Amino acid sequence: MIMDARTEIETLTKELIRYQDAYYKEGNPLVSDLEYDRAWDRLLYLEKENPEYALPDSPTKRVGSDLTNDFPEFEHSIPVLSLDKAYSKEEVLSFFSKSIQKEGEGLSFAAEEKIDGISMVLYYEDGILVRAVTRGNGEVGNDVTPNIRTISSVPLSLSEPVDIAVRGEVYLSKKDFERLNQEAESDKDKAANPRNLAAGTVRRQKSSEAARVPLDIFCYEGFWSDKAEEPKDHLHILSKLKSLGFRIDPELAFFDVTRSEAERKLKEAGIDGLGYGFDELEEYLRKKSETRPDLPYEIDGLVFKINELGVREKFGYTEHHPRWAIAYKFESPQAFAILKDVTCQVGRTGRITPVAEVSDTLLSGSTIRRATLHNQEYIDQLELAIGDTVSITKRGDVIPAVEEVVEKNNLGNKTYKLPRLCPCCGSELVSEGAHLFCPNYDCEEQVKGRIAYFAGRDQMDIESLGPKTIEILYKEGLLKSVEDIYSADYDQMIGKPGFGQKTVDNLKKGVKDSIARPYKTVLSSLGIAEIGGKSAEILASSGFDSISKLIAAADKRDPSLFTSIKGLGESTADILIKAFTDQRLLETISKLSSHGLHLDAALDSKDETEYQPIFSGQIWVATGSFENFNPRSKALQEIEKRGGKTAGSVTGKTTHLLAGKGGGSKRKDAEKLGVKIVSEEEFLALLSQDANKEEGMDEVKNPAPAKDDSEQLSFFDDLGC
Ligand code: NAD
Repeated sequence: MIMDARTEIETLTKELIRYQDAYYKEGNPLVSDLEYDRAWDRLLYLEKENPEYALPDSPTKRVGSDLTNDFPEFEHSIPVLSLDKAYSKEEVLSFFSKSIQKEGEGLSFAAEEKIDGISMVLYYEDGILVRAVTRGNGEVGNDVTPNIRTISSVPLSLSEPVDIAVRGEVYLSKKDFERLNQEAESDKDKAANPRNLAAGTVRRQKSSEAARVPLDIFCYEGFWSDKAEEPKDHLHILSKLKSLGFRIDPELAFFDVTRSEAERKLKEAGIDGLGYGFDELEEYLRKKSETRPDLPYEIDGLVFKINELGVREKFGYTEHHPRWAIAYKFESPQAFAILKDVTCQVGRTGRITPVAEVSDTLLSGSTIRRATLHNQEYIDQLELAIGDTVSITKRGDVIPAVEEVVEKNNLGNKTYKLPRLCPCCGSELVSEGAHLFCPNYDCEEQVKGRIAYFAGRDQMDIESLGPKTIEILYKEGLLKSVEDIYSADYDQMIGKPGFGQKTVDNLKKGVKDSIARPYKTVLSSLGIAEIGGKSAEILASSGFDSISKLIAAADKRDPSLFTSIKGLGESTADILIKAFTDQRLLETISKLSSHGLHLDAALDSKDETEYQPIFSGQIWVATGSFENFNPRSKALQEIEKRGGKTAGSVTGKTTHLLAGKGGGSKRKDAEKLGVKIVSEEEFLALLSQDANKEEGMDEVKNPAPAKDDSEQLSFFDDLGC
């Protein structure tokens, strides 16, 4: 499909804003950086050619915002922008030469690593840290001071009583990232990369939780309130920052006409670094690219900055970046494969996602056989045909995606076209925006997808009801809708392949336990687009604490009833109105209600009071793995439900250590401090004292869903279905 410039600008603007929200606010990139940057560059080009069509909210005119409602806002007193990008040695050289031409001779350039973390501004008054603020939208950021105070390399007071703002990048080392991921209780608790974990930590509501992640910081800019105190150039600023107590990039490099001149300036500023002549740029880039994997932290590029502050001031800023710096971006690791076929997945909303079936190839240590293709427009852009050799990267270092055709097939195959009919039910597909949808609500794949989503770990978390089991129960005619989960006669399955008495009992128990899930969880499990955990939370805490209130408001068809809530935009309001006036969803809701699910927050507290407060006044910590509680957070939930408190590490306040198999230092700490150590068996005995659980806790044997099930689910989820 060929689009006119205006439509393409509108489409790209909308898509990029969606990508930015997912990347900055949810830490969950929808596309690879390469794909994002390609769309960004295309939009920039189109806007330059057709300025009359550029939209006021274009992402090229502002900094991608990571502002959230979870923290207070603070207006920056310095420019906190993004960076212009270069992808080749030539582009960096051109930045050098254009800057020198514009200014005349005598410019020099600092080269720093572009640390892949979270941008932070530290504000000091009289040498005391008063505020730590995220980049936000470049003008206003979120005040996350309590969390940043927990970082040991952030000085709380400086060696001089200065008023300064310092920009830095908060990051997590590769080693700590790997260790924390290994310690994660389940796959869903694992982060995709150090940046995501660092971003999540900076936004923790409790700083005691943030303190458990050993974040670090490198600082790279300083702005003095009193300009008379400001050092004369970038090298002297870095040197001063270091002497004030900040950590700066240990791999600083510096470029001047000759290497000896660069080395002289480094020495004069009293700072360690490697000096280079301009003609050594290629060698420097090659060396940095080669040694990048050995660094103890992640970097995604190198930043070249004009050293002279007066020139910086003259060059100034665009709305998006300073004109005196450029970021050279490394390429993501790539693998090459042959496109064997394109298959289509039908998501729970009916969205069709084409998937490339490729010849086996190794990428960052894993074998890739399938990679996402997004939609027809994307296939057209790539001019992708069966038999082509393609390059593949991992989006956000996680989801394999086809990036480019590197060699055309010699079979005469033309650009692949998606089928016009649903590969599952044969319905004619309809276009909505850039995507194709199957319009049939009863399409088998959609029904199974809705059930799997509802039962998934991040939603109702129904043990033993993974996609594979759902597939079998659907075929058996037991599960044909979400509400069937609560009325199906699972006993009919006993004796069928894979369904012994124990399996069926586990399934029934998983379903029964899920009935007590809180209202917010039920709301976010209904599968309404854009209504995930966070929106459900916002709705519940803004007065919509029951589904009947949502239905009544939707019935008025007045979006302002929802848009008046901070954090809910117009598109979410439209989605809510559409969803809660849809008879099919209303029918599901009414049936779920008849099965006792919490469609009203008032029911949540009722259940909690049904547990005896047998752990009241106690503080528990868990270590090791458990046969009956997998992940072990389930054991901690049982404690909390019965009035106990839980913590992540053993301290003088800990009263009990729940010790499973394995476990390490926590047991030793508990022994040292005389904390009571409780085995899993003893814990089960304690729980069975709770009158509410007369049926006996030894029935709690809920094995995690078959590995295949969870893997399959996460693959569907990853593809945005
Ligand atoms: P950027 O990549 O343009 O770089 C600017 C940031 O680099 C600064 O704000 C600063 O925080 C950081 N930085 C690290 N070390 C630095 C140093 N030594 N000196 C100066 N700054 C340093 O950052 P951005 O604007 O946040 O993001 C744009 C990039 O992020 C895109 O090019 C893309 O690669 C990625 N992105 C990807 C997606 C996606 O969906 N995959 C979405 C949005 C953005």
